[in-house]
Amino acid sequence: MMNFHIHTTWSDGIYTPEIIVKEAIKKRMEKIGITDHYQTRKVSSIPSKYLTMYLEDIHALRKKYRDMEIYAGIEVDFSPRTDISSLPDFKGFDFVLFEYVQDSLWDGYPFWMLLDIRKKIDAPVILAHNDLMRNFGNTDINAFLRVLEVDEIGIELNTNPNYTKLGEPYYRLAPEIFERLRRYNIPVSIGSDLHEDLEYLDDVEDALSFIQETHLEKNLKLFLKRIGDKYER
Ligand SMILES: [Zn+2]
Repeated sequence: MMNFHIHTTWSDGIYTPEIIVKEAIKKRMEKIGITDHYQTRKVSSIPSKYLTMYLEDIHALRKKYRDMEIYAGIEVDFSPRTDISSLPDFKGFDFVLFEYVQDSLWDGYPFWMLLDIRKKIDAPVILAHNDLMRNFGNTDINAFLRVLEVDEIGIELNTNPNYTKLGEPYYRLAPEIFERLRRYNIPVSIGSDLHEDLEYLDDVEDALSFIQETHLEKNLKLFLKRIGDKYER
C-alpha cells in the first residue's frame, strides 16, 4: 500500500513525520510521501526559510527506517494566499503537489499560470485533488491532456471525503478524462490527504481499484518511476 498525500506537525497535521512512518511500517505499507503545506495564509504551513530543515527531517527518517520508502513532497496552495512570485525551485524534493489549480471556488489561479511556474520547479509536479470535470470538463480535453504530458504534470487520485460530491470522489466523476488519460504519458499518483486519523493512513483502496478499472496502471508506474529517479538514500 502507498499514500503520497500526508500532512504532519510541519503544517496542519497532528502527528510528527516519525509517528506517521512508524504507523506506516505497522500497517506494512511500502511507500509514503510526506506533503506538508508550503507557506500559505490558508493554514499552518512551512515558511520558506524552514524548507531545508523540513527536507532534512524527512531525509533523516529515510536513513533511520530503511525498509520503507519515504518520499519528500510538499503542497502548494495555488492561489493569492501564497506568494507565488517568490516560489522556490523545490530542489531536493521528490514531488510537488499543487492544489486548487483552476478552481474558482477556492480562488485558484488558472492552469496556464502553472505552466510558467512548472518550468522552474526541479521535481515532478502533480495536480492535487482537482475536481477535473468541473475545472477542465468544458475545455478541449485532449488539448489539456497533451499539455499535461508535454509539461510533465501529473494527476492525483485523492480518496479524502473532502474531495467528493454526493459520496463520489472527484476522479470517479471524470470518466471522459480518465478514459483518454491512459493513452498519454501522464503520471497518476494516489493519496488520502491525511491530517489526523491514523486509521486512514492506508485508505487509498478505492483509488487503486479505480486504477485497475480504468487501466491506469502504466500511469501510476510512471509516477513511481519519476519520483524514484529523484529518490536518493
Ligand atoms: Zn493536502
